[in-house]
Amino acid sequence: MNNTKRNSAVASEFKFENTQNTSGKSYARILTGDRPTGPLHLGHFCGSLKNRVALQNIYDTFILIADVQALTTNFDHPELLRQNIFNVALDYLAVGIAPEKSTIIIQSMINEIAELTIFFSMFVSINALKHNPTIKTEAKERGYKELNYGFLGYPVSQTADIAIFKADLVPVGIDQLPHIEFSRKIVRRFNELYGGALIEPEALLSEFPKLIGLDGNLKMSKSYGNAIFLSDDFDTIKSKIRTALTDKSRIHPSDPGHPDICTIFSYHKTFSESGLTKNIEHDCIAGSIGCVQCKNNLHESIKNILIPMNEKRQYYKERASEVWDILFAGTNKAKKIASETLKEVKENMKINY
Ligand code: SF4
Repeated sequence: MNNTKRNSAVASEFKFENTQNTSGKSYARILTGDRPTGPLHLGHFCGSLKNRVALQNIYDTFILIADVQALTTNFDHPELLRQNIFNVALDYLAVGIAPEKSTIIIQSMINEIAELTIFFSMFVSINALKHNPTIKTEAKERGYKELNYGFLGYPVSQTADIAIFKADLVPVGIDQLPHIEFSRKIVRRFNELYGGALIEPEALLSEFPKLIGLDGNLKMSKSYGNAIFLSDDFDTIKSKIRTALTDKSRIHPSDPGHPDICTIFSYHKTFSESGLTKNIEHDCIAGSIGCVQCKNNLHESIKNILIPMNEKRQYYKERASEVWDILFAGTNKAKKIASETLKEVKENMKINY
């Protein structure tokens, strides 16, 4: 059996197999989340948020706002976390994450995660972390010459995030499978050493379409300055779209274009109705549409997607205490599970004094 098959699961398998599992869940639990390092953008929407809105109807969905993990790279500005957590929560609620279906958790309020991380870190080798492909790639992307302890160890704390809530599944793209395999190894080792208190998580293989950046970069990212944020107003979005990279060889609207190399066209494929997208493709190749018109059309398509989100965002923005109540309620619910798991962990380790 190949890695992909062994480590992945599909909704139907788990929905029914886990109808009565050890942690009293009625259906499989998934854990997912974000670091609150800034507002979420259209890349997040296509890459994960849309998927979560669908998954919350099938799974017991836990979404972690990983503020401690955000400190691995933003330790010098902890004061920004509070606002970032609030903004990420607003983004969640705006896209349709429903508090009655999804449990939204503030990571730093679950101190059990930190304790479990410490226990895991006793048997995870430094070499395994140094050679972890995600750590290597991220360190390279961020230009780190020397790694701090928290950054190097974050796959360990991420495993604790998953294990403490007894999550069965973690929605990931195929490129993140090594990450889940790493977590599985840690949990397996723990269970071998101390008995099976923890659930070995599986990957819930999902499609995470990547949205390219406005500048044509393969990834839309806040740090690259090439993102359209879900919270941007429509005028800002319009001016951002205006700057996006198109087919450079087109000087006049009548010049035949190449939509396949155009950022705007890739967005049309994602956000516009198929009829409009087909017409744009045809007209661009035929040289019968100008880029300004094409960009205006895209602006309308994105607007149509964001209008209902903006209504929800506005509702919650005016009710900040309601947003914090949602976060605290989710965190309290999760904390009960975390403290039960930690109790079991300590019993198994025979350190329940
Ligand atoms: S018409 Fe549209 S698809 Fe064609 S190059 Fe211009 S922006 Fe891109």
